Amino acid sequence: MKRVVYVDNNATTRVADEVVEEMVPYFKELYGNPSSMHTFGGQLYKRMERARGKVADIIGATPPEIIFTSCGTESDNAAIRGVLESYPKKRHIVTTRVEHPAVFNLCKYLARKGYELTEISVDNQGLLDLDELRAAIRDDTAIVSIMHANNETGVIFPVEEAGQIIKEKGAVFHCDAVQAVGKLPLDMSRSTIDLLSLSGHKLHAPKGVGALYIRRGVKFQPLIVGGHHEHSKRAGTENVPYIMGLGKACELANEYMKEEQGRVKCLRDKLEENILANISNSRLNGHKTLRLPNTTNISFEYIEGEAILLLLDEVGICASSGSACTSGALEPSHVLRAMGVPFTAAHGSVRFSLSRYNTEEEIDYIAKNIPPIIKRLKDISPYVKEIEELEQKAVSTANRG
Ligand code: PLP
Repeated sequence: MKRVVYVDNNATTRVADEVVEEMVPYFKELYGNPSSMHTFGGQLYKRMERARGKVADIIGATPPEIIFTSCGTESDNAAIRGVLESYPKKRHIVTTRVEHPAVFNLCKYLARKGYELTEISVDNQGLLDLDELRAAIRDDTAIVSIMHANNETGVIFPVEEAGQIIKEKGAVFHCDAVQAVGKLPLDMSRSTIDLLSLSGHKLHAPKGVGALYIRRGVKFQPLIVGGHHEHSKRAGTENVPYIMGLGKACELANEYMKEEQGRVKCLRDKLEENILANISNSRLNGHKTLRLPNTTNISFEYIEGEAILLLLDEVGICASSGSACTSGALEPSHVLRAMGVPFTAAHGSVRFSLSRYNTEEEIDYIAKNIPPIIKRLKDISPYVKEIEELEQKAVSTANRG
């Protein structure tokens, strides 16, 4: 079998073996409905509540403040729409230019439906402009949605400072923490965040389960209406096996958090330093230190990120690029554009995102394979040739002068 080195953990993660083990009985023997009156189903309610407790624990919340959802995207939609519906007279939304499409495209959609939208800028290191945030919030601002950590660059926003400003101005604060939960310590008992989204498949639980934290007392209307599940905040029979898996994954993530900050960060730094030192025209996208410990986003100037990914794929390395193919053309990511990364660099960006399953040997394998791939692409790049010719001309003109 072809070797696979998986460094695309911000896209999704491997389900932990312990999580699979936790889930299996809920498909086979314990398949009842937690809302049932009989003991066979009803016993699941207590177990599901224990899982809710574990999810609450990882963010320092209380179990009744957690509702289970199907994914991070649903949590984001439920939070933003749920608050907007609770404040029908407030028609203004504030967010940032670098949110995940789950928030970014939802806000754009709401703007088309008549809401007013203000998007806060970031600087060239991906950091938030807090003065701009302060100036943006108005009396009719219903909600401010700011991510905790960026999925493409890993840049961490100062959410508590932002939250202070949001509270002073009297708006509700939603935080998309899909990339932060399990990687950074969070404590809602001391936080200014009102609603927080998380997603199972980013922290070694399966795809198809997420959660939304709703601070006690925050006004909220359910996105999905039906039965009285999840304290009438999210209708639909609970996905018990996946919820049990999410609970286990949160428990494990609590245990592994230090490893994420230590060993995983060291591996990330080793890879990053190696690439930046050995490959000319490579540059880091995002702040050097205010970053998730597992993420590095590097631009290889004048070559296509997609081409790099294809060649990495040939040697079994799974990473991702900052470009998205829209209508046949490669569009650089909105995140890198918002940071003002030059077009030639934004096109050639590659994100490596590690997890606790990566080994040093894998990092060495990537570091060994990247230089020949970049050289091969540089050799055939029309831009690189053009630039080299221009540089040579400049040198000979200077020599003549
Ligand atoms: N928010 C962020 C920051 C993400 O990175 C993602 C997924 O990549 C999402 C939201 C959406 O989560 P899900 O894939 O669970 O819908």
